[in-house]
Amino acid sequence: MTLAVGIDLGTTNSAIAVRRLTTEILSNQEGEFLTPSCVLLLPDQNVVGRAALDLSKLHPKNSVLSIKRLIGRDFAEVAVQNFIKPDRCSYDVETDPSEPDSIFVKINRDSYRPEDLSALILKKLLQDAEQQLGSKPTQAVVTVPAYFSDRQKFCTRAAAQQAGLTQVKLLPEPTAAAIAFGLDSLSEDDSLSLMVFDLGGGTFDMSVLSISGGHFMEIAKGGDMWLGGDDIDQLLYDQVIERVKNKTGLSHLDPLIHSLSANDQARFTGELRRSCEQAKRELSQNPEAQIECFGILRDEQGDWLDIDEVITREEFEQWLQPFMDRLEQLTRALVAEIYFEVELIDQVLMVGGSSLIPAVQALMGRIFGGDKVRLHPRPMFAVAEGAAIWAQQNFSSEEVETRLEIMHSVTHDYYLQLAEGKRQRLVERNSPLPCFVDEQLQFIHEDQELACLRVLNEVEGVFSTVGELWLSRSQLGQLATKEKPVFNLRFEINEDNIIHMRAWPLDHSERCIQGVIARGGLVPKLYTDLESALRKAFSKTDQKTQSMPSYQSVARIIVENIQKVVDPVSAQVNADQKRKVLAQLKTLDIMLSSAEDPFQWVGYCQALQSFGLRLMSQGECARFSELATHYLQAAQDFTQWSRIMELRDSLERCLQSLNHAGILDSLVRTEIMAEQRHERHPSEARRLRLILRNSLDVWLSPGEDEGKRIAEELVNHELAKYSIPTATPRFYRDVQRLEKSTRSHRL
Ligand code: ADP
Ligand code: MG
Repeated sequence: MTLAVGIDLGTTNSAIAVRRLTTEILSNQEGEFLTPSCVLLLPDQNVVGRAALDLSKLHPKNSVLSIKRLIGRDFAEVAVQNFIKPDRCSYDVETDPSEPDSIFVKINRDSYRPEDLSALILKKLLQDAEQQLGSKPTQAVVTVPAYFSDRQKFCTRAAAQQAGLTQVKLLPEPTAAAIAFGLDSLSEDDSLSLMVFDLGGGTFDMSVLSISGGHFMEIAKGGDMWLGGDDIDQLLYDQVIERVKNKTGLSHLDPLIHSLSANDQARFTGELRRSCEQAKRELSQNPEAQIECFGILRDEQGDWLDIDEVITREEFEQWLQPFMDRLEQLTRALVAEIYFEVELIDQVLMVGGSSLIPAVQALMGRIFGGDKVRLHPRPMFAVAEGAAIWAQQNFSSEEVETRLEIMHSVTHDYYLQLAEGKRQRLVERNSPLPCFVDEQLQFIHEDQELACLRVLNEVEGVFSTVGELWLSRSQLGQLATKEKPVFNLRFEINEDNIIHMRAWPLDHSERCIQGVIARGGLVPKLYTDLESALRKAFSKTDQKTQSMPSYQSVARIIVENIQKVVDPVSAQVNADQKRKVLAQLKTLDIMLSSAEDPFQWVGYCQALQSFGLRLMSQGECARFSELATHYLQAAQDFTQWSRIMELRDSLERCLQSLNHAGILDSLVRTEIMAEQRHERHPSEARRLRLILRNSLDVWLSPGEDEGKRIAEELVNHELAKYSIPTATPRFYRDVQRLEKSTRSHRL
C-alpha cells in the first residue's frame, strides 16, 4: 500500500512527511530533512535541492530560487517587477506577449512556467520519499500560503499533477501548523483560539483558528505574500552596499557591478546575498556576524574590492524596524478584522524559519503577552507534519486514532461584474467553506447573443479577474426568441477552494453550462482575443447600414468551442480543440478584413432543406444536399475561410442552376421572412407560412402550369409588402441581476 504524504512546498525550503504511528519528516537522498527549493537547469541535466543550491554559485543564471514567489502571478504586478530585477533575481524572467500576464523563466533558451519548476521540486521530494517508503506516493496534501490567490492555488495543483501526484489536496500552511500543534499539544477537551504566525523566506502568513476537540475552524486569514526572510536578506544586502560606498567614497557601486560579465554579476549578487542570509541566521544566536564576498568585484583601478563587514545584532534590529512595524500592523489588522481583542487570542504559535529571529518573537510577546507566544519546537517542519496528518486523515483507508475536522474559510471577497460597471458581491471573505450562492441573472438586450459572467477578487483593495464563464443565448435554449434570457448562476467554492461556475435556464438545470475558473493561462487568453476581435468587428459594422455579417454567430461558435478547450474539472488541455479555436480566431481575423459574410447562405440552406427538396429532381437534390451539408459544416466549423467561401460560391451556382430556381427562391425568402416575424408579428408569420404551404402544394401537384405561375406571382406580391429588417450590429456581453434573487448557502 502506498502511503499518502504531506508536502510543505516552501519558498526557500521544502519538506515531505508521512504519518504512520507518529509523524515523520522523511529525509532526502542527501540525508537532510529540508530540501532547498532550488532548481538548477543545465543543458544536460536538472539538479534540485542542496546540490543545486551549492552549484548555483557557479551557474547563477541557470539556478532558480524562490520560484514560489512567481507562481500564479501576473508579469505586470509591481511586486513581480521588483522581484525580477537583476540585482534580486539571478535568472531571467520574461512574459510571452501572446499570453497576457504570463511569466516564463528563460534558461538555456528554454522557457519554463513557474509551475514547471515547482513540479521539479515536487518530483525530487517524491522520488526521495520513494526511497524511504518503498513506493512512490501518488496522493498528497500540499500546503500553500493561506493568502494564496485562486490562480496561485490552481498553478500549485497543476505542478503537483505534473510531478505525478494523482490525488492532491491543498491545505493552508498555518492550518497545517495548527494541526501538527493540536495533535502534539492539545487534549480532546481543550478548546482555544489560536493564532498561527508563519514567517518563512518568501511569505508572511497568519491565521486565526478556533480549535475544539479535534475540530479546526479557520476564522480569519491575513498576511503579506511578499514579506519574508528574503526581504531581510535584501535589507542586509542594501545596508552592506551602503557601508562599502561610505568606506570607499564611491557614490554608486552599480557601475562597478554592471561592468562585470553577466555571470560574474549574478555570482556577486548571489554570493553576497548568501552571506547576508547566513549572517542573519547567525544573528539569531550571536551578538554579531560577518558578511563577506571576496574575489569578484574590482574597483575602478582594477583592484579587488572585497566585502568584509561585521554586523551587530543591535544594528541589525535597528535596520529591521520598518519590517517589524509592518509585521505589527498586519497582525493587529487581522485581529481587528474579526472583531477580536488581542486578549481573546489564547495562544500564538510561531512557525517558519524567520520566526527564529529573537526580535520577531519579542514583538509577538509585546502584542499578545509573552506567556501566550510559543515558538513551535520544529518551526521549519510543523507545516509538513500537519500536511502529513491531514493526508492520512483524507487518503488512508485504515482507521486513524484521532479524527480531525477542518472547516476552511474563504480568503478573499468575490464579486460578479454586472452591466454599467456595477458589481455584486457573491461571497464575503472568511465565509466558511464549502459554500455556494445562486443569482438570477438576465441578458440586458433583446438582441444579445452572449453573456460573460466575470468574477472579480478584491485583494488588498485591488480588483482583479478571477475567471469567467461565457454562455450563449443558444446554450440557454433561446435561439429563436427575442426575449432577454433569464438564467441562474451558481457560484460555488468547495472545501478545496476550487471554484465552479454553473449557469442554466431557470427551469432547465439539465442545460447547464459550467466551468472551473481561476486557472489563468490559455482560456482567459482565448476569451481576451475573441473579445478584442469582436470589439473591432462591431465598431466597424456600426458604420455599415445594409447588412451585418454574422459576427454574433461567429462569437457564439467560438465561445462554445473555447468552453471545450480545457476540461471543466480536470483542467486538461485538449490540444485539437485548442488548435481549432486558434484557427477560428484566425478566420475571424480574415472575416474582419473582408466585406463578405460567410454565413450569408446558412439560413437560406436550412430553409430550403426543410421544404424545398421536394421541388428538386433527384439529381439536383443530391447535388444540393451534398453541397449544403458541406457548406453548413464548414461554416459551423469556422476554421477555414477559403473553404467556406468556395463552398458558398459553389452552392450559389448550384442554386441558380436549379430547374425551379425562381419559385424556390421566393419560397425560401417567404420562410425566412416568416421566421423573422414569428416572435413579434405572429399573425403575419402565420399568413406567410400559409401562402408558402399553398404555393408549395400547387407546385408539387402535376401539370397546371398556369396555376403555378399564379402561385409564384402571389408569393412575390406578398413578399414585396415586407422589407427585410436589418439588425443593428452590437456586441453585448453584460448581465443584470434580478433583485432579491440571491440565495446563499453553506453546503
Ligand atoms: P519557506 O516557508 O519560505 O520555505 P522556511 O520556513 O523554510 O521558509 O524559512 C526560511 C527562511 O527562514 C529563510 O529566509 C531563512 O533565511 C530563514 N531562517 C532560517 N533559520 C533562521 C534563523 N535561525 N534565524 C533567522 N532566519 C532564519
Ligand atoms: Mg513555509
